[in-house]
Amino acid sequence: SSPAGRPDVLVVGGGIGGLSSAFALARQGLQVRVLERAKEFGEVGAGLQIAPNCTRILAEHGLLDEAKTLGVVPENMVMRDALDSRELTRLDLRDLEHRYGFPYMVIHRSDLHGIFLRACERAGVELLTDQTVVGYENIEGGARVLLEDGRTEEASLVVAADGLHSVARRQLVGDDVVSSDYVAYRAAVPIDHVRENGVAEKDVTVYVGPRCHFVQYALRGGEMFNQVAVFQSPKALAGQEDWGTPDELDAAFEATCDTVRKGIPLMWRDRWWQMLDRDPIDTWVHGRIALLGDAAHPPLQYMAQGAIMAIEDGWVLARHLSNTAAQRDWDTALAAYQAVRVEHCRRVLTTARAWGDLWHLDGEARLQRNTIMRGRDTYDYSFTDWVYGPTALTPDEEPAMFTSIPLSSVSVESEGTELTG
Ligand code: FAD
Repeated sequence: SSPAGRPDVLVVGGGIGGLSSAFALARQGLQVRVLERAKEFGEVGAGLQIAPNCTRILAEHGLLDEAKTLGVVPENMVMRDALDSRELTRLDLRDLEHRYGFPYMVIHRSDLHGIFLRACERAGVELLTDQTVVGYENIEGGARVLLEDGRTEEASLVVAADGLHSVARRQLVGDDVVSSDYVAYRAAVPIDHVRENGVAEKDVTVYVGPRCHFVQYALRGGEMFNQVAVFQSPKALAGQEDWGTPDELDAAFEATCDTVRKGIPLMWRDRWWQMLDRDPIDTWVHGRIALLGDAAHPPLQYMAQGAIMAIEDGWVLARHLSNTAAQRDWDTALAAYQAVRVEHCRRVLTTARAWGDLWHLDGEARLQRNTIMRGRDTYDYSFTDWVYGPTALTPDEEPAMFTSIPLSSVSVESEGTELTG
């Protein structure tokens, strides 16, 4: 029903998940059309951390240099106690880059979104706005979406990348979002506004405290400073509907150290994000309709892997479609996508919940956590290998959790092969 005829793939949702997948699929020679509900493509919010499992994919997409120009490559990721500000543990991000072969970066959301938008334009993706999808169905040899204005569109594959409140998820799975009773406030301000606050401009700093945490890092070549303030809402616990309001923000950080308290008045107060996720599910693929990104696996953001998982999803799906390109075996590719991504994302979702619990401890438990964290060796990567290592394409490539995989020996071996060969 569209002027340009039926595409191979319809992608519903033009967020970071939708656009990065559309680009990955178009690179495999597929005709891709994106249907976005908003009047314009864009992103709300401020910074995004992108770990080596994402920058590796950006490099493969030919987009890493552009991302580096727009973002910041910090020196350390430092975790501190939010009450006494003492350091608990750190990652040396230069060493980490050496280990994984790709940088740990931070970038403004709209800059990363813009990179994918321009890449889609160059790759010939059809980018349509003002398109609200209200229904999905499988048809012979493909799937069909129904739009709010009554039109329908069809393709061999429909990718539903319509976010946390996904219509596809509601129709195909029917589960509910899960409230954490935590809320996030964000802000990105000119760096001059925080210079007096004792901030570490070259690091990502996470202050963890009782029922709250605070994240800081520089953005846009160091000109801007990003802050995220997260806390448990007493109103949410009391079952009130309107929870996470600005009065609660001030109260939540009253007991924190100077640097954190000085950051709180800079937070945007006209918008906040109630932290919701969903329980992991086993089935993302329903015939020729595939869930992707937050529609499939919305996390609490404590692992900083939500947008990354969405980018990985699209990359993995595209790789499997390329493997079956000769016979265009959509069903085999979709099964391979589901076989590897469901388990990886389940791990990230459940770890994010546990990580949040650990960050927000109070009393004796907080002190015990601090002691354990201070004992961690900066160069012990057993907690990061399973997530920052190369994105698995098959279940047997997925590393075990929390066991160091000998990445360094892998690269030494291949160097050795080159030397002798
Ligand atoms: P979305 O970004 O929600 O995009 C969905 C798109 O679909 C939207 O454009 C929407 O308009 C469109 N849409 C919705 N419904 C319809 C419809 N019916 N028809 C057509 N279009 C529709 N992740 C990281 O990797 N690193 C971080 O550091 C990080 N920090 C975070 C901090 C906070 C405070 C929060 C809240 C999240 C953070 N995340 C982070 C997570 C990350 O933001 C999300 O996981 C990611 O943006 C999800 O992308 P998506 O494209 O799947 O969904």
